[in-house]
Amino acid sequence: MDCLFCKIINREIPADIVHEDDEVLAFNDINPQAPTHVVIVPKQHIATLNDLEEGDLGLVGRLAYTAARLAKERGFADDGYRVVMNCNDQGGQTVYHIHMHLMGGRRFTWPAG
Ligand code: 5GP
Ligand code: ZN
Repeated sequence: MDCLFCKIINREIPADIVHEDDEVLAFNDINPQAPTHVVIVPKQHIATLNDLEEGDLGLVGRLAYTAARLAKERGFADDGYRVVMNCNDQGGQTVYHIHMHLMGGRRFTWPAG
């Protein structure tokens, strides 16, 4: 499958991996927008949020749980951080394998751009 994140999961493309378990891989974003910018992906290929099925709900919970765990490990959980999932073109999605961005270590504004 011609999917960048599947290739990272399969170790066909290198990445700076910061967490792995049976269901999830997390790695540093190549173009970080914050002191911590980690991309958290399910190992299962799901193209967009619109493609989620009821059986996948636990997986999305695991993305959020992993984000919170990494934020705690890095010491900015209490100060606060931003998690983002972009969906399709207008949402800013560029890689069509669902992922959660974890960004921390600076103050974020709202609404997002
Ligand atoms: P999206 O725009 O789809 O929400 O997020 C995709 C993210 O993947 C972007 O923040 C982008 O910088 C990151 N990215 C794109 N290609 C690579 C890559 O080859 N390696 C890593 N580590 N991150 C990538
Ligand atoms: Zn994929």
